[in-house]
Amino acid sequence: MDDCIFCKIVNGGIPSYTVYQDDDTLAFLDINPNTQGHTLVIPKKHAANITDMDDKDIASLFRTVRKVVSGLQAAINPEGFNLVVNHGEVAGQVIHHFHCHVIPRNTGDGIEYNFEGFTPSPEEFQELAGKVAEHIN
Ligand code: AMP
Ligand code: ZN
Repeated sequence: MDDCIFCKIVNGGIPSYTVYQDDDTLAFLDINPNTQGHTLVIPKKHAANITDMDDKDIASLFRTVRKVVSGLQAAINPEGFNLVVNHGEVAGQVIHHFHCHVIPRNTGDGIEYNFEGFTPSPEEFQELAGKVAEHIN
């Protein structure tokens, strides 16, 4: 993908603060970090979203996520992490090359995710669960 910024990072056309790479994946520091150590994990092969990746790509990707979490834990010892994937523009995806944000978290770090919930009835839950299940195999 000629105009994809993350493909350019994979190809070395744009520099990155790389923390790990293997044949299939690359992990580098986010240039505009939410917290210290905020890292992005990407597949080297362009895929806009998880639905464009095969099982092997996904397994490789999340193996690297685990390695990065362990590395950050050892390096800067945060209290926890958010692992975040924004899928689609409505969900905040700006760069359309799959990436998993690994965001170290500490008490009082000022990050707030406000998801205002709503409460379906048991019947609505049941109907929706059935409808979704029908489409998953
Ligand atoms: P998203 O909103 O999920 O698409 O996130 C895109 C992320 O990519 C943002 O957190 C940006 O700060 C980050 N980003 C954009 N350009 C670069 C770059 N050249 N190197 C590292 N991170 C980048
Ligand atoms: Zn790309």
